[in-house]
Amino acid sequence: MSDRTTTWLQKSKDFMKKHWGHTEFRGVQEGVLLSLYSGQNTLALMPTGTGKSLCYQLPALVQGDLCLVISPLIALMQDQVDELRSKGLSVTFINSSLSKQERESRLARISKGEFKIVYCTPERFRKDEFWQSIQSRQVSLFAVDEAHCISQWGHDFRPEFSRLGEIHQRLGRPRTLALTATATPKVQKEICQMFGIQESAIFDGGLERPNLRLHVHAVYGMDEKIRNTLGVLHQNPGPKIIYTSLISTLYKISDFLRGFNQPHLIYHGDLPPQERRRQQEQFMNSDESVILATPAFGLGVNKANVRAMIHVEVPNSIESYYQEVGRAGRDGLPSECHLFYDEEDVSIQLEFLKWANPDAGFIQGVYNLISRGGAGLESEGIEFLRRQMNFYNSRDYRVETSVNLLERWGCLEPKRGRFPFSAVDHPTPENLAPYEKDLRLKASQSKLLDLVHYCQLDSGCRVIEILKYFGKEGQPCGHCDLCLKASGSLV
Ligand code: ADP
Ligand code: ZN
Repeated sequence: MSDRTTTWLQKSKDFMKKHWGHTEFRGVQEGVLLSLYSGQNTLALMPTGTGKSLCYQLPALVQGDLCLVISPLIALMQDQVDELRSKGLSVTFINSSLSKQERESRLARISKGEFKIVYCTPERFRKDEFWQSIQSRQVSLFAVDEAHCISQWGHDFRPEFSRLGEIHQRLGRPRTLALTATATPKVQKEICQMFGIQESAIFDGGLERPNLRLHVHAVYGMDEKIRNTLGVLHQNPGPKIIYTSLISTLYKISDFLRGFNQPHLIYHGDLPPQERRRQQEQFMNSDESVILATPAFGLGVNKANVRAMIHVEVPNSIESYYQEVGRAGRDGLPSECHLFYDEEDVSIQLEFLKWANPDAGFIQGVYNLISRGGAGLESEGIEFLRRQMNFYNSRDYRVETSVNLLERWGCLEPKRGRFPFSAVDHPTPENLAPYEKDLRLKASQSKLLDLVHYCQLDSGCRVIEILKYFGKEGQPCGHCDLCLKASGSLV
């Protein structure tokens, strides 16, 4: 290790102590920092809540000119920036929530050399004004949070993230830190390929959160779910999250809870942003509250003492499930995670998967409509496409996904207008091949089936099973439902 590398490490530690009050690095933080200080592109796999952010914040703040942090979550940016600014640090974010005036002012300040860290979404790189603002700056660190979103085969693919490889290249391949809590070996490989990360620069902080107590309950129907939910709520003091996949289920549960005089907050994507924020803040500021939410809630919410978590419906994969339960017990104290498994719910998830995965014919159909153009498309934009493709179901995202894919394949070019693209080139057979064979759909279905298998297990250990899924090994946890059953503590 060179002297310079150790000097930077010491500076980072001093900086952390001064601004955060932490005296020692935790887990793989030190390894990640050393790797970055020796100039390597790095991948950090760290469980949620164990300090991923400091891995880019420290190098950004003690060294270099500009760090770009790419994050899929607008709410998270706001929270992180608020936290850093409260420490007097010079950071900002640029995203679609800002007024034009505010955005322009921030961009001007970026180009003048203000701000060590700028948070943004990958969409920002579509804007010339953004490229211009960073032109005069040296991007010394490119940090990609939730890096699993780049992978078509991950559980949370975001087409915009798959453009990051090109963006990275256009930036001149700056030093990169990719971060994620949940990536299977296949997804890790994809991340490494995209950003040129060597195997020796992968830092694996492990998955295990020994304080999480995982339980699965086979249930049948709403009544049993409600009874179980009330049971968990009454047995566990402290803040609790109840997740549902569907907003309609959320409201059904909410009605029941009200009937039982159980106060609770509500959070889902269809609430107006101020209302979402209000509910989130109330949850953050209370030590007893219950929040009933769709999985959108909790992304980037840093509440340390969530004591119990209930999944009323099965999520779509072990990755999603593990990421969601990771929002419980960040303080390291025991936390209960209960998953209610109703076979009926699996078919709902299967429907969702279909709605997220267009096939080749569908994508081609969307392209043809765009290429034909016309007044309808100009005046109504994507709504016109949805109508033409006969979609009235608000959860059907195939049109949006097709547009994203076409754009990514270079078949569409940005333009001004209500529908912001024009058609330039047909999708090629290579582009369409995986969609021809429904490969992506099949991959998501197989992830769901892995979760179903996990739910149906009646011996072994839940933690070992999850570790196995991520290509790792471990010891029986001793407190999941299966371990308790084996030891005779649970019948
Ligand atoms: P995540 O991994 O989910 O991004 P954060 O970076 O938000 O988690 O960190 C979670 C919490 O852990 C924060 O409150 C942070 O200050 C704290 N933390 C990070 N690094 C350390 C450390 N070395 N020692 C003690 N606490 C730390
Ligand atoms: Zn166990």
